Amino acid sequence: MKNVVLLGSTGSIGTSTVKVAEDLAGQIRLIGLAAGGNADLLLEQTRQHQPDVVSINDPAKAKELQAKLGGATKVLCGNEGLLTLATLPEADIVLIAIVGTAGLQPALAAIRAGKDIAVASKEILVMAGEIVMSEARKHGVKVLAVDSEHSAIFQCLDGKPTDSVRKLILTASGGPFRSQTDWPKEKFSEITVERALKHPSWVMGRKITIDSATLFNKGLEMIEARWLFDIEMARVGVVVHPQSIVHSMVEFVDGSIIAQLSTPDMCLPIQYALTYPARAASDRVQTNFPKLSTLTFEEPDVERFPAIELARRAGEIGGTLPAVLNAANEVAVEAFVNRKINFPQITATVRRTMDAHRIVAQPTLEQILAADAWARVEAAR
Ligand code: MG
Repeated sequence: MKNVVLLGSTGSIGTSTVKVAEDLAGQIRLIGLAAGGNADLLLEQTRQHQPDVVSINDPAKAKELQAKLGGATKVLCGNEGLLTLATLPEADIVLIAIVGTAGLQPALAAIRAGKDIAVASKEILVMAGEIVMSEARKHGVKVLAVDSEHSAIFQCLDGKPTDSVRKLILTASGGPFRSQTDWPKEKFSEITVERALKHPSWVMGRKITIDSATLFNKGLEMIEARWLFDIEMARVGVVVHPQSIVHSMVEFVDGSIIAQLSTPDMCLPIQYALTYPARAASDRVQTNFPKLSTLTFEEPDVERFPAIELARRAGEIGGTLPAVLNAANEVAVEAFVNRKINFPQITATVRRTMDAHRIVAQPTLEQILAADAWARVEAAR
């Protein structure tokens, strides 16, 4: 039995993780759950899974929840609650699926308490990849990927050292505006929020769906891969694969390429992160090859999607620049969703914020958080 703490239980990854726990009842126990604001769903999940401790952001909601639950489950709140959950003595692994930067401190707390972590929140490795990975090495814990691409690369590498790798190849669906026939580049400024929220192959949260349309999602994943697999940016490639069947690939130095495939379902990478190194039997994901017809691959169009090159630059230079890219993008996506800027202005805002930033090399966590805060103000301006 593996004891799992799930931070961000009511979001897209969180609810998929709860499904996985239901599939694998008897192998996985959810001993701690944390939610942002969705008290009703947290209550339902708590009644069903009987975790020891839960947490919700708002103290008033925590009080209400405690009253409804009685004494069996302890209810905490705020950042304090997240940190307590991340370091629960009985926890074997902490899965972090909180949107935004709030997952960073709990991730580090879990590592320092000797817990393996499963990372769904991209910010953790994008902002502080160097610190997180060096802390993980120091404490002898694993950092497992929940993202489908990084789970794929992890499975393809299968423990091989990076000097046996020629290139990591991240696949990208290309999003709803992949090609000129999907949407002409000259008309990118006419893209509506509703149109950008329609992703061709994955059902995900709002922020990541917009990021998939700009390809910033792939950019963030490139930076994550750089840290997670300890490989320089030049050896992290991207190929567009609209069917989203090949989740990523590793090209080895001898020219052999190993890929991981399945019909797209986030439950699969989540399950693998939680059961690793074992594979647990599950009927949830079925891939029918004859029905797939064709799998296609193409070069990403960097003219349409400058996010790829901005992310490459941020990952190559490192320091505080990836945190600035991430924060500026968050602000710009929010502004786009609120109809304050148009679609191309998302990338333009990120570029201008990056250009204006004074990079700190080998930053401390405080300097990273300061760069994040600066970038939010600068991007909003
Ligand atoms: Mg992904």
